[in-house]
Amino acid sequence: MSTHDTFTQYVLPTYGRFPIVPEKAKGSYLWDDQGKKYLDFCTGIAVCSIGHCHPKLVSAIQDQAAKLMHCSNLYEIPQQAELAKTIVEDFVQTPGKVFFSNSGAEANEGLIKLARKFGNAKPASNGTPRHEVITFRNSFHGRTMGTLTATGQDSIQNGFAPILPGINYAIYNDLDSVKAQITDKTAAILLEPIQGEGGIFAATKEFLNGLQALCIDHDLLLMLDEVQAGFGRLGHDMAWRAIAPNVKPDAISWAKGMGGGFPIGAFWVSDREISNGVTLSSQLGPRTHGSTYGGNPLGCAASLAVLAEIKNSKLNDNVLAREQQIKEAVAEWNHPAIAEFRGKGLMLGFALNADTMTTAEGVTPALALVLKLTEKGLLTVPAGAETLRWLPALNVTEAEVAQALDLLKQALDELTA
Ligand SMILES: *Cc1c(COP(=O)(O)O)cnc(C)c1O
Repeated sequence: MSTHDTFTQYVLPTYGRFPIVPEKAKGSYLWDDQGKKYLDFCTGIAVCSIGHCHPKLVSAIQDQAAKLMHCSNLYEIPQQAELAKTIVEDFVQTPGKVFFSNSGAEANEGLIKLARKFGNAKPASNGTPRHEVITFRNSFHGRTMGTLTATGQDSIQNGFAPILPGINYAIYNDLDSVKAQITDKTAAILLEPIQGEGGIFAATKEFLNGLQALCIDHDLLLMLDEVQAGFGRLGHDMAWRAIAPNVKPDAISWAKGMGGGFPIGAFWVSDREISNGVTLSSQLGPRTHGSTYGGNPLGCAASLAVLAEIKNSKLNDNVLAREQQIKEAVAEWNHPAIAEFRGKGLMLGFALNADTMTTAEGVTPALALVLKLTEKGLLTVPAGAETLRWLPALNVTEAEVAQALDLLKQALDELTA
């Protein structure tokens, strides 16, 4: 039975899958079972942040796997303590505490629970707990019941009603629309500093600063979903610092790139005081939250290796240099098929001009381009129907980027011919 047929018979069809059977990978390259070599600018959707099978990540996992893979959060896991310290001291650089999960959705669930706890600790003036969270149209926060509710996209919620009560949607980069959603029950605002799945739309500096001011005025938590954009992807340790460095978030979630391919997520909660002598991070005390696997020795050893590599090899600098390289090339092409070039760091979107492209019936412009690039040996991923997304490894080389640009130019020329 071919892998394709086995898939069709035994795996739930929740994904539209490309007919590629991956076999091995190294750095920015991936090989399929036919021996075809691809330059990988999808990186498992921003996961393989230091490239595939980085020797330091491989040996960290191998060594830890041979020593202790898993015990329980009932014990003081040293790798977990070390990883939390690294995240707080070297990356967030703001006093706070970390909880470890296995995925981005799970990290965001933690943020929603934090908002509820905060709204209980600091109720509305009539004494009823505040429980509402404002999220954004076109956002993406995950697929669990809580996070699919936070995700402001009908297509992701269809068929799953009733969804979680108390989530209200505002329009991204529109402060007035946020103000309109604030009630006496609002406890928090949750947003991506740059929307990924929604099509690569970055928040403006004014918007993030404005949200911060609203949060202070109304005593709301400012919670950032950096699951896709965090840990160097935007050329800064923290995604929000690439946009509005003066913002002081109350909580941040991560996953994807922090494990470099090993499934791990996390969220950080500020130690700031929310009332006399009471800190925000103390709201998630004993028995309020948990995860059997979250923060186990193996996952934390993997993430420690990834974060060390991001710091030690100064990958932020490479991200900014490669972003510049891509920007310059795209500006120089001035290609009719590219309506707009968006994004930051190595989280980039090429919004396509559908009118200029010839695509097959029922195939979106983004998908047509992804298919064409796949044929040419470049793996990419769409973001919405009309945007091509590039998420190369943070250590992608100048030569690899030049090769990808070359393939993209060829593909665009062919699709617009
Ligand atoms: C991918 C993603 C998630 C969900 O992460 P999972 O690990 O798939 O649960 C949440 N938020 C953002 C911004 C994402 O990109």
